[in-house]
Amino acid sequence: MKYIEGFRNPGAAAALREDIRALTEALPPSLLRQGYGGQANRTTNIMEVCGSHTMAIARYGIRDILPSQIKLISGPGCPVCVTDAGYIDTAIELARRGVTIVTFGDMLNVPGSDTSLAAVRSEGHSIEICYSPLRALELAREFPEREIVFLAIGFETTVAPALAVIDQAIAAGVENLSLLVAFKLVPPALAALMTDPDLQIDAFLCPAHVSAIIGADAYQPFTGSEGVPCVIAGFEPLDILLGLKGILTQLGSGIAEVDNQYSRVVTDAGNRRAQALMETYLEPADVSWRGIGVIPASGLALKAEWSRYDAEQRHNVRVEVGKMDPACRCGDVIKGIASPFDCPMFGNVCTPSSPFGPCMVSSEGSCAAYYKYSR
Ligand code: SF4
Repeated sequence: MKYIEGFRNPGAAAALREDIRALTEALPPSLLRQGYGGQANRTTNIMEVCGSHTMAIARYGIRDILPSQIKLISGPGCPVCVTDAGYIDTAIELARRGVTIVTFGDMLNVPGSDTSLAAVRSEGHSIEICYSPLRALELAREFPEREIVFLAIGFETTVAPALAVIDQAIAAGVENLSLLVAFKLVPPALAALMTDPDLQIDAFLCPAHVSAIIGADAYQPFTGSEGVPCVIAGFEPLDILLGLKGILTQLGSGIAEVDNQYSRVVTDAGNRRAQALMETYLEPADVSWRGIGVIPASGLALKAEWSRYDAEQRHNVRVEVGKMDPACRCGDVIKGIASPFDCPMFGNVCTPSSPFGPCMVSSEGSCAAYYKYSR
């Protein structure tokens, strides 16, 4: 309880808010840029990269207490949202072939090109919800006559737990298990966003959990004389306000460096054990991000020597780029060039119980966050 009170202290929050106001007033005019979609209001654009930050910012009303000049732009850090529709299509094809699909629940309602896993499950196909990737291993042992495929999506944070399944399957001699891999890496996405002509990003509020794996040093390439401030922050309200204060301090002084405000969890080098597991099984791959397109070396694929655990190889399927409902603006929301409020379907046609796009499905999606806390 004391821990929670320490990070939600109203007096400390008020003091930080005042610091942020003063630092914003002192920003040089050159940091006034176009806002969402080139709107006329001139803003200083800070991208919160992580979907959990997006949810926390909405939940604690942090946008509402910031000076109007500060625009928080939600980035591509929701793993479900950036998973291409073609990946869902492949999982559906495998389920229809009789393979048991094991997945976290938030993938169920994500639209593929034509339908969702939830709809296919209601047709009677075998799709199991799990709370841990190890459930896939349990099922593989329990039903040795069945083929089990775990939907291995996510950023650096979720890679090691999924690989632990393979590690343990090898040790136990389990052969009827494979991964449909769609792992994504945050740094290559940041590099792509920094050079995107549709975006003008002044700073990154860097993710907490991902940084615990990759380490604070991973953001060094984005800083320096040609770069932008990169501040790592936790998920409590005071963490986020401290992170924003750190960003504005750097912007005011013209410095762009890595500032680790979440040092109680994140080290400079990151989690070496998780990194070693990734190096053993995976290699960089060009992958498609929903709404952004293919970014070179922005994902991870199983190395050829582990192909028997690769669902694409084992079941002779291939993940292609899928189709999105053309009316859904998830792509622009993921990329940060539109707010959920810019989508005409937000909150009327598209709701969490009737989602048109993944941003309304996921517990870390921008549209879901705005729907829940900011309507
Ligand atoms: S509100 Fe719905 S349709 Fe619009 S961008 Fe978000 S998920 Fe897509």
